[in-house]
Amino acid sequence: MKIFELFSDKKNGFKITLVAFLLIFVFSPRLTLAQTLSLLVEYIGAGTDYETPAYILQSQDKEDKEPVIMIVAGIHGDEIAGIKAAEYLKDNLEIEKGTLIIIPQANILACKKRVRNYPPEVNLNRVYPGNLQGNEIEKLAYEIFNLAKKYDIDMLIDLHESIEFYRKNPQNYGQTIVIDSNDDYLFQLSSFLAEEMNADIVEEEHKYQVLVDPIPGSTAYSAYYQLGIPALTFETCKKLPLSFRIEEHRKLIETILLNGKLISLKK
Ligand SMILES: [Zn+2]
Repeated sequence: MKIFELFSDKKNGFKITLVAFLLIFVFSPRLTLAQTLSLLVEYIGAGTDYETPAYILQSQDKEDKEPVIMIVAGIHGDEIAGIKAAEYLKDNLEIEKGTLIIIPQANILACKKRVRNYPPEVNLNRVYPGNLQGNEIEKLAYEIFNLAKKYDIDMLIDLHESIEFYRKNPQNYGQTIVIDSNDDYLFQLSSFLAEEMNADIVEEEHKYQVLVDPIPGSTAYSAYYQLGIPALTFETCKKLPLSFRIEEHRKLIETILLNGKLISLKK
């Protein structure tokens, strides 16, 4: 398999297991039920106003804890679709192998108030990898990043929404997959995902586009450059109906997990 050889030769810090699982796509729709599932909850910002749960889903087979994938939503509290999708996924996924870490409401106060940032002047998505001695949002970023390190994650997906379609006004990122480097593997992975997502979309404007746009301080940027793992930011457009957008976030995550054979879906 040419494409697999190409990437397994690469020594850029990405784990071979992850490369292998994402590139050896087996187009078999067969879904089996997980034997066991364990759900663990860790609290980020425990004891503070920003205390928020991180759900750790894994198969109970001790040999099968990898790869570890982290899904973050609610970095911006008014980007509802990713939050709803993350909450749905933590209740409805059967894990066959590997570990899934889901943080549905990263900035829980912003989520509760349905505002982008809380406090309004600090953007959580610009302060990674955070600072334990910094302000409360820098501390929050530090703890999220620390959890990623503790679990030695292999991939990170950050769920967002934008007010406008990128294809209409490129100042906004609606309907894009944003990556922080033009790294071959990351670009091919994102292009594959965009293609899968676009297969069901008719309107040209609503189709996803892959953007290479490094955003220092963002969750994905730090994961890519500091942890050396594939990371991407997924953005839907708020002009589309909420129910559709929630489905889109779900579909993106499920596409990754199903192709890697990490999950089966509950009936
Ligand atoms: Zn956002």
